[in-house]
Amino acid sequence: MGVRYTSESVEALVEEFSQLPGIGRKTAQRLALFILKQPRSEVERFSAALVAVKEKVRYCSGCWNITEQDPCVICSDPKRDHTTICVVEDPTDVLAVERTNEYRGLYHVLGGSLAPLDGIGPEDLRIKELLDRLWDGVKEVILALNPTVEGEATTLYLTKLVKPLGVAVTRLARGIPIGGALEYADEATLSRALEGRVPM
Ligand SMILES: [Zn+2]
Repeated sequence: MGVRYTSESVEALVEEFSQLPGIGRKTAQRLALFILKQPRSEVERFSAALVAVKEKVRYCSGCWNITEQDPCVICSDPKRDHTTICVVEDPTDVLAVERTNEYRGLYHVLGGSLAPLDGIGPEDLRIKELLDRLWDGVKEVILALNPTVEGEATTLYLTKLVKPLGVAVTRLARGIPIGGALEYADEATLSRALEGRVPM
């Protein structure tokens, strides 16, 4: 237990910041002191933004991406190809694929990948929801999971479930560095991986 601030409010704020992913106590202290120096109006805007995401943002009932309207702008766009579904782990991955400006189909956000060691099994991901979408004229499912052990396991697991349903299953071409993440791949690499996708 490190030395604590003599202000309980600052301590509480440090505590809140240290709950955030990737934020250690040192960084949390720096952030708390930064907030302390900000004008009140800035801090109010910040806290309003925090509350607004909980009030306004929900999951799209089609693809499970985050959205403020349901279905989301992608699912409700008639110009998109509703016969192709690109399966990703997180909303950030949707952004990564959208940045390529190449993909015109729909998405399905799983909410992570299979990680038995962390206690994340199929029932913790939106796998049933994916299967439920496949009767509706879907011709191809593109598996665009991260090139990690968990992503690989999830890719194989989904292939086994989807292929027997008569829907084509493809995966991204290799090219994203192993152990890397879609969200850090540059547009050109991701574009090539999507273009050169291979059947499972
Ligand atoms: Zn959607």
